[in-house]
Amino acid sequence: MLNKFPRTHLAAAIVMGAVVSTAMILSPAADVEAGRMSVTLDLETGQSTPQRTPLNEADAVDAPRHATAQSTPSQTTSPTEPTVAVDVPAEPEFEWSEFEIRSGDTLSALFKKAGFNDGLMLSVIHGDGDAKELQRLYAGEHISFASDDNGELAAIKLQRSRLESLSIERTEAGFVGERVVLEPEARISYAEAEIESSLFGAGQAAGLTDKLTMELAGIFGWDIDFVLDIRKGDSFSVVYEELYLDGEKIDNGRILAASFNNSGRELTAVLYTDNDGVSAYYTPEGRSMRKAFLRTPVDFARISSHFNLSRRHPVLHRIRAHKGTDYAASTGTPIKAAGDGKVIHAGRKGGFGNAVVLQHGNNITTLYAHMRGFARGIRTGRRVTQGQVIGYVGSSGLATGPHLHYEFRVNGAPRNPVTVPLPDAEPIASNEMARFKAVTQGALAQLETYQNTSRMTLARGE
Ligand SMILES: [Zn+2]
Repeated sequence: MLNKFPRTHLAAAIVMGAVVSTAMILSPAADVEAGRMSVTLDLETGQSTPQRTPLNEADAVDAPRHATAQSTPSQTTSPTEPTVAVDVPAEPEFEWSEFEIRSGDTLSALFKKAGFNDGLMLSVIHGDGDAKELQRLYAGEHISFASDDNGELAAIKLQRSRLESLSIERTEAGFVGERVVLEPEARISYAEAEIESSLFGAGQAAGLTDKLTMELAGIFGWDIDFVLDIRKGDSFSVVYEELYLDGEKIDNGRILAASFNNSGRELTAVLYTDNDGVSAYYTPEGRSMRKAFLRTPVDFARISSHFNLSRRHPVLHRIRAHKGTDYAASTGTPIKAAGDGKVIHAGRKGGFGNAVVLQHGNNITTLYAHMRGFARGIRTGRRVTQGQVIGYVGSSGLATGPHLHYEFRVNGAPRNPVTVPLPDAEPIASNEMARFKAVTQGALAQLETYQNTSRMTLARGE
């Protein structure tokens, strides 16, 4: 007894199998799965970064674009008309069916649910314009299929967020896709609070979201240790954007200016986008709020071995200088470039295993050793920016367990990464100072006006 299948069913099963595998060869998109939404909390800067975690690495390059769409709204800081990039006309004659995308959904399965086959799916994703972006799906998004009177696919709308959608329409020449991004209206808002017990408590009392409070901590986190330095009676004030779409608040925007009073020391920061389009926070005098280097290039790590020039090596068992700091962290933890710089080594390096060496300016180099592997695009000669992931914690080379061995060298001489004085990041260049003053004076004046109004209100006992 070879099998219990009637002969015809067996043949059908073989044909089905062949169709499925052909579809998968033709289109990897049939397998595109939804990603997850997560928030990365950066303990060094205090900044939280919403991230979508795509299923495969190929998507990882583009994925953050979606997350940043909301956090980089228009430059407008005063109320303006919402701009609609493309007006998608309503198609009342079509019948729409909408599905929420869940983790594990494939485009192929969604087409099937809507009553369309893989062949049609292929002609859609091979359509013109932005049609191929339909291959990138994330959980929580909504996809709608429009059928015409004949039950044929006429249009697809993929709603990625309140602000971003992908619209695909059938034309004489085939399917054409267009990515539509709405610009929210940014309205100025103000909050201030005095700290009773915790920064987050004060933020909540002032009506700030934890995310905004986290951003505030990120701005001042280079000067104030929010775990150790905060005292009852410290206070802050912040001018920030609230983003509106069709008159409804959808999110907070950027912090435009803020001040923090820590034990009587008043720090003020203002957002400025320089001539190269890079946005950062500065003092009103144009000094950067941040340092040129992160103190610790890995999050969620603890120091497992200190800088020590006369240490007994744990593997070699003889006195050998420990010219860096070891941070124990789980395998795969991202390692960040401590500062802006250039990759001068990325590869095996003796007992260091997989190692990266970065050159920062003329006299400082940083070294990252025992990596499991390198981040995409990290090669000798490449430029990196501060905080950029360059590799992942591992135990390659002479290592007893997963950790990052981190060195900070000044003119070639190893310095203790934990205590070495870190230079400030670049201030506003003198030839850009006039523009800086002109651009930032509005936000700073607003901060001051709000603060004064609030103080007068308090003084009058209102
Ligand atoms: Zn080490």
